[in-house]
Amino acid sequence: MIILVVNAGSSSLKYQLIDMADESVIAKGNCDRIGIDGHIAHKAADGRTLDEDCAFPTHTEAFMKLVEALTVSDAKVIDSMDQISAVGHRIVQGADIFDKSVLVTDEIIDKIDELRELAPVHNHAHALALRACKSVIPANVPQVVVFDTAFHQTMPERAYMYALPYEYYEKYKIRRYGFHGTSHRFVSEEVAKMLGRPYEETKTVTCHLGNGGSICAVRNGKSIDTTMGFTPLEGLVMGTRAGDIDAAVITYLMEKENLTAAEMDNILNKQSGVLGISGVSSDFRDIEEASEAGNARAGMALDVFAYKVAKRIGAYTAAMNGVDAIVFTAGLGENSASTRKEICDYLGYLGVHIDSYNNSLRGKAMEISAPDSRVRVFVIPTNEELVIARDTKELLDK
Ligand code: AMP
Repeated sequence: MIILVVNAGSSSLKYQLIDMADESVIAKGNCDRIGIDGHIAHKAADGRTLDEDCAFPTHTEAFMKLVEALTVSDAKVIDSMDQISAVGHRIVQGADIFDKSVLVTDEIIDKIDELRELAPVHNHAHALALRACKSVIPANVPQVVVFDTAFHQTMPERAYMYALPYEYYEKYKIRRYGFHGTSHRFVSEEVAKMLGRPYEETKTVTCHLGNGGSICAVRNGKSIDTTMGFTPLEGLVMGTRAGDIDAAVITYLMEKENLTAAEMDNILNKQSGVLGISGVSSDFRDIEEASEAGNARAGMALDVFAYKVAKRIGAYTAAMNGVDAIVFTAGLGENSASTRKEICDYLGYLGVHIDSYNNSLRGKAMEISAPDSRVRVFVIPTNEELVIARDTKELLDK
């Protein structure tokens, strides 16, 4: 069974073609700059590539190019789209409507589009891509949607309610939804296997630390709390996002600097985080380099970041009344040994000891805690595309 996994944004269409027999990636690529001009970068597993500028006025033309890349280009990997059993799509916001992956119908696409108010950057683009996909891919190929928020729908009220007047929850659905659910689910399942314990009897704190970051408390296979909230702005300090902040700062700054809501939103989402503190970059590699070269603000940004992660690990250990394993994943979590060390140095009270040699390795799922560590610590490369493909297969099998 071959499954096409699609991750559509407002101007890009990332995809992977996965052979479910061995869960290998047959080809992957990105149709970029949709609505601007257009470019495809496509790579087959054997190394053949397609890299060219094209016209992508809408997602439909991008899908047509994707089909061409897969089926007729010099880097083609199949003869026809009929060889594809299904398409699985990543959807950012499913709100409290979707607690699991579902087969796509016209009503489902409309519902995803209706949720655009809760995810302005993403959901409308997903709906456009779903409609474009339907118009290009053969009608008999089923489509499945997999939601970033679905895994967190198990959070109890005490974790998802904000202390605002209740009417705003009723009127506008203002509550914590959480994001990165597919990633938290994948690494928490994987770590249970590595621990040799049933998933339903394991307490894990999963740290998805990338350009955007979130932490999740996974107790007995269910998300019971997570740091991102109503939007992906809440929680940790991120590349350009502020994370948790005293809400009064926002009204204060708007008054002082005469800012509109859109301008304030831009500051909080695009100009804050480690970029805002350091003034150097949103990329942790640049900040680590600047810090090593003696840039004090870069050092402070890294300190603030690690301190906040460590505090949340402590909070979620309390929320679960214990923790068996801590997992690091995503760009920073998988690659930055110094960040992992700085975070774990706060966790001595939990009996966490890191093996510095294992912590320096990269590229595969592995334990980085020392044999005497009371709580075990792991690095597990995330694979959201594989979860989407697995969910899609599971729905088809049913
Ligand atoms: P992601 O959003 O998961 O793709 O993660 C991207 C972020 O991971 C980048 O912005 C970098 O800050 C960070 N990152 C990737 N590789 C490294 C590395 N070797 N050292 C430090 N940070 C890294």
